[in-house]
Amino acid sequence: MQVRKRIHVSGIVQGVGFRPYVYRLADAHHLSGHIANNAAGVVIEVQGLDAAVAEFLRALQSGAPPLALITDLQVAEIACNGDAAFTILPSEKSETVRTLILPDIATCDDCLRELFDPSDRRYLYPFINCTNCGPRFTIIRGLPYDRPQTSMSIFPMCPQCQAEYDNPRNRRFHAQPNACPDCGPRVELLDAAGHALASADDVADAAELLRAGSIVAVKGLGGFHLAADATNAVAVERLRDRKHRVEKPFAVMVPDITAAESFCELNAEDRALLSSPRRPIVLLPRKPNGAIADSVAPFQSTLGIFLPYTPLHHILLQKSKLPALVMTSGNLSEEPIAIANSEAVSRLSGIADAFLGNNREILLRCDDSVVRRIAGRTRHLRRSRGYVPVPVFLHREFPAVLAVGGELKNTICVLNGRQAFLSQHIGDLENAEAFGLFREAIAHMQNILEVHPSILAHDLHPDYFSTRWALAQTGMRAIAVQHHHAHIASCMAENHLDGHVIGIALDGTGYGTDGCVWGGEVLLAGYESFTRAAHLANVPMPGGAAAIRQPWRMAVSYLASHFGEKFGDLPIEFNHWLDRTKTNTLLKMMKENINSPLTSSCGRLFDAVAALIGVRRYINYEGQAAIELETAMGNCNDALCYPVGLRPSSSINGACTQIDTRPMFENLLRDLQSQVSVPVLSRRFHNGVVEAFARAAELARHQSALNRVCLSGGSFQNAFLLEHLAQRLASSGFEVFSQSEVPTGDGGLSLGQAMVAGG
Ligand code: ZN
Ligand code: ZN
Ligand code: FE
Repeated sequence: MQVRKRIHVSGIVQGVGFRPYVYRLADAHHLSGHIANNAAGVVIEVQGLDAAVAEFLRALQSGAPPLALITDLQVAEIACNGDAAFTILPSEKSETVRTLILPDIATCDDCLRELFDPSDRRYLYPFINCTNCGPRFTIIRGLPYDRPQTSMSIFPMCPQCQAEYDNPRNRRFHAQPNACPDCGPRVELLDAAGHALASADDVADAAELLRAGSIVAVKGLGGFHLAADATNAVAVERLRDRKHRVEKPFAVMVPDITAAESFCELNAEDRALLSSPRRPIVLLPRKPNGAIADSVAPFQSTLGIFLPYTPLHHILLQKSKLPALVMTSGNLSEEPIAIANSEAVSRLSGIADAFLGNNREILLRCDDSVVRRIAGRTRHLRRSRGYVPVPVFLHREFPAVLAVGGELKNTICVLNGRQAFLSQHIGDLENAEAFGLFREAIAHMQNILEVHPSILAHDLHPDYFSTRWALAQTGMRAIAVQHHHAHIASCMAENHLDGHVIGIALDGTGYGTDGCVWGGEVLLAGYESFTRAAHLANVPMPGGAAAIRQPWRMAVSYLASHFGEKFGDLPIEFNHWLDRTKTNTLLKMMKENINSPLTSSCGRLFDAVAALIGVRRYINYEGQAAIELETAMGNCNDALCYPVGLRPSSSINGACTQIDTRPMFENLLRDLQSQVSVPVLSRRFHNGVVEAFARAAELARHQSALNRVCLSGGSFQNAFLLEHLAQRLASSGFEVFSQSEVPTGDGGLSLGQAMVAGG
């Protein structure tokens, strides 16, 4: 019997080869009908024998192309008509857009084979792509995802490319960025001043420059990288000097897994992650004595490694014959990545010796993503290229909200229905270029999602650039969200939680409801509200922001708070190191309460300990002292633990426990005086922090009867802290949740803000 069914498919089903897949499937089952993209995804009508249609429906989900993601599928029976064949109809444009745009995807194996096949017409063509790979998010202007709506619109296809594009049986059917050497974009090698170099083979010449130790700016998918030979210490040092980047580790691109294996310890999950089509930078344990220059990642036990993800990267690495290239964002420290050729030349002049640009426009900047495997799961330190704009899928419907994030490592979030769209990594907003990208991303996200929320969520901090921007908007209802409440809400959202939880939010800085700098917090929280159950006892931050850059100030603050000024008499190395004049100024500032805000920050406690035991007294990048303190543990598994005191006290929100670190410092000082080694000191401190927050959570459970704990905040980028606190809490009977897909640091803040404002 003949039947006809209409099938609405939602999810990531555009630009992933879904229509040709359905076409071939319908063909194989001798079905007539049609398929079209619409705003919600695709709509399919199939007509044929009952059994064949049933078989088609079964196969539809199981055999979908690798990049497709079906989130909803609705089938309705409709009347048969006289269709004789199956056809692909042109896209329709409608009012409410719910379709999902794909991120930029690494070159697929089929394209790679063609790229290195001398008989192929795209042999060594740096822009080869197909429906399974290539740029998406960074070349898209609006919906529906079709060529005129991308930056490929200025390249009319040659007859051969057009024939591939029109043929449903071809791998390049409706591949919007389809191109070849005859009709597509081309690379161009420019000298340091931006003048074209007469070159017969631009990529080979760029590779030669890299071999000779030069720095080459290379245009990729989401912006320019600065590339240098990672095995050449002089080249790496030169890059650091020119980029004004002291000690902060560089990521390294290696040609393949074998090369990665020679520099780092890999397990099966790491290998899968490195070679996934999303191609993140993966932080991996570094092998000793590799060929990579020490200055690539000084004072680190890990190395950030990634594999080539554009055809140009593949060709460049092959031609350079180098085992590893430093590939760092094309910017000055903390500015966003440069995207246009002219912009790159002006902003990167003085850094790059040459520019390998091209004439395909990047419409939106997008940095590389960074992940690390901790406690058996992939954790996003930076969720950007390869992942954005795939939404975070939520457990229920929420109103439309725009959330503008924090100040550092900013992202924005557009919440709509059951989906939360986090933007790419935007950067530190105090930087004018990053603030420009912030505004661009807000406009672009709303544009490609076709959502214009009336609720606007921002941080409680009155002076953040994001807050000031939010408060200057008209026609939207602005809602201020406390920083650590947002961290916990972000964790709840990712884990599909409702109701109330105990939230342990540990990080460097967040504005508290009492005007203090929070960051070592135990909250009782739901989306709509929170109370503070416990926090690290306050100490002054002498000099405010200067105390963040100079961890020794925090060590002085903690010692003076706990032991008064007589701490200076203790026979410890730190006291010999201290400059008496500077210390006295600091003590005076704290005593007279001059520029010394009070803080309960966990990051500052780590800073104090790192400085006190001599690991790091001045930092060159955010989080450096804490990272090096973790590294300093090595494989030490000392079981002792520096204790803390838990003291009840009352605050404006009612009873709140103070976590008193005095016993912790007493024990630490005793160990310092008996010459206990740095790894043991670090381990005992880490054990102490785990125990302190586990006990604070137990106390909070006792008071609230809640048993779910959410862990969030930048301090949980510390693998030891996350792993051991989660274990300790689980063994105490808690249900423990942490972040994975969404960054635990401030990159995940905007999601939590949106949930609080919308929940
Ligand atoms: Zn491909
Ligand atoms: Zn062509
Ligand atoms: Fe934070």
